[in-house]
Amino acid sequence: MAVKMAAVSGGGPIGSGDEYIASLRDRGLKVFLFGEPVEEPVDHPMIRPSINAVARTYDLANEHPELATAMSPFTGTRVSRFLHIAENAEDLVLQNKMQRRLGQLTGTCFQRCVGMDAFNSLYSVSYEIDQAHGTAYHERFKAFVAMTQTEGFVIGGAMTDVKGDRSKAPHEQDDPDMFVHVSKRTEEGVYIRGAKAHQTGCLNSHWLLVMPTMRLGSGDEDFAITGAVPVDAPGITYIYGRQSCDTRAMEPGDLDVGNSQYAGQEAMIIFEDVFIPWEHVFMDGETEFAAMLVERFTCYHRRSYVCKSGVGDVLIGAAATIADFNGVDNASHIKDKLVEMTHLNETIYSTGIASSYQAHPTASGAYINDDMLANVCKHHVTKMPYEIGRLAQDLAGGLMVTLPSQQDLDHPDIGKLLRKYLKGRKGIPTEDRMRILRLIENMTLGRNAVGYLTESMHGAGSPQAQRIQIGRQMQLDFKKALAKNLAGIDPDVQQGVIETVSDYFERVFSIPKKTAADD
Ligand SMILES: Cc1cc2nc3c(=O)[nH]c(=O)nc-3n(C[C@H](O)[C@H](O)[C@H](O)COP(=O)(O)OP(=O)(O)OC[C@H]3O[C@@H](n4cnc5c(N)ncnc54)[C@H](O)[C@@H]3O)c2cc1C
Ligand code: SF4
Repeated sequence: MAVKMAAVSGGGPIGSGDEYIASLRDRGLKVFLFGEPVEEPVDHPMIRPSINAVARTYDLANEHPELATAMSPFTGTRVSRFLHIAENAEDLVLQNKMQRRLGQLTGTCFQRCVGMDAFNSLYSVSYEIDQAHGTAYHERFKAFVAMTQTEGFVIGGAMTDVKGDRSKAPHEQDDPDMFVHVSKRTEEGVYIRGAKAHQTGCLNSHWLLVMPTMRLGSGDEDFAITGAVPVDAPGITYIYGRQSCDTRAMEPGDLDVGNSQYAGQEAMIIFEDVFIPWEHVFMDGETEFAAMLVERFTCYHRRSYVCKSGVGDVLIGAAATIADFNGVDNASHIKDKLVEMTHLNETIYSTGIASSYQAHPTASGAYINDDMLANVCKHHVTKMPYEIGRLAQDLAGGLMVTLPSQQDLDHPDIGKLLRKYLKGRKGIPTEDRMRILRLIENMTLGRNAVGYLTESMHGAGSPQAQRIQIGRQMQLDFKKALAKNLAGIDPDVQQGVIETVSDYFERVFSIPKKTAADD
């Protein structure tokens, strides 16, 4: 079994959006959409915008290499930042800046961060498993990372299992296939079975990194499996996820789609005894490390949701534009609402970027961002895009959901009536007004609301998952001691407690090392 990227494999890394799109052709993937097999996903009008969004990441790497690439210690060359292991806090900060920029350029989910965050978390976790068990996962994983960097591949991060009854552990489920697990082991490797749900950009990837989805315990050993699988491996079926208004991409014209160029992608992946050779197995049975892997992945990924601030920039721009087109841009409440949207959007960005700045090294040497601030960032993301979307809909007016179709606008008789009655401010073509309204619809109710709203809610874990992590790290005893000390309650005892700055506060008060430039 080989990954079939004949167009580029062995010929150097994929170097542009066009080369990337070419690399996805002729893979013979088993993909279902509307109950029918999809012959060539690259040419499907509903799928193509999601491919364009990933292609944009390659073009950004050419336009701004300092932002979207990094020097790899494994290959000695510049590689995609999406494949780079963070060597310092600045690498993490640059991930966030790249994510915001790509959110601005695509207005959607560009899909590559799940793989990036899976790479970074597995790098440190494989190291620590080896330290504890004398296994050889870390060297295998480093070789895999180097290979993907050399080829310039896209990696999908496959963590979320379908999970069946959420109150039961994997081994307690009536059907073991509710969680991906090892179905057979041979001298050559393992075979896996099960399904992963909601998989971002999986068809648009070259490899999938399969990981456990939650803390595992005794009896769950076969579920503690992590490995890399080529997207075109035998035994994989992809069932494409629908997005609201998705079939508009199959209608003539580009107006009603709102954003005709770019979209996100999710699919369900079914693994029917899919083979993984040992060289691509990075955890097998070490149940006690499943929680560490999930927590590190979500730590990275929850601040990756800074991407939504880039998408938010587009929505704020669309709201300001429709106010302008309607002739109300100078109204004080409109200005105030745009200020509020910006305030919310920058709150998302600031918590994410702060998490990256407040990074620390793991035992492997790879850096990880601050977990408390990552969870705060993601928790904001479960709420603020909804409020930004509400305000955008306020400024848009009701026409956003009652607009006639592009076919009506193009009709020789009806079109004239629409151009007359749907006019706004003098000098603004009716069609432009319709286009901006359709973009707001796309981002708050249509295809890209999947990425901007519901993915913001559930991606990288539903809101409760962040509250649990924030609760674990909130150090109430320390804060109570601060209060009791100032209130004069056992000041000597409290003084002792507050002198020990640990956990989150240790990270808060750690002084960054001086650089030569500071001297
Ligand atoms: C657009 C999108 C893209 C995504 N992309 C990816 C991806 O690329 N890779 C990936 O691995 N995953 C991906 N995810 C999955 C995401 O991580 C999950 O949606 C998330 O973890 C929630 O899981 P779930 O959807 O199964 O919801 P559920 O588990 O069904 O949760 C629904 C509700 O039930 C609550 N709940 C669940 N279990 C319990 C419990 N035991 N006790 C109490 N309450 C509980 C939750 O808090 C939530 O409120 C994506 C999700 C979305 C929506
Ligand atoms: S939701 Fe954001 S962080 Fe996640 S893959 Fe999409 S663009 Fe990246």
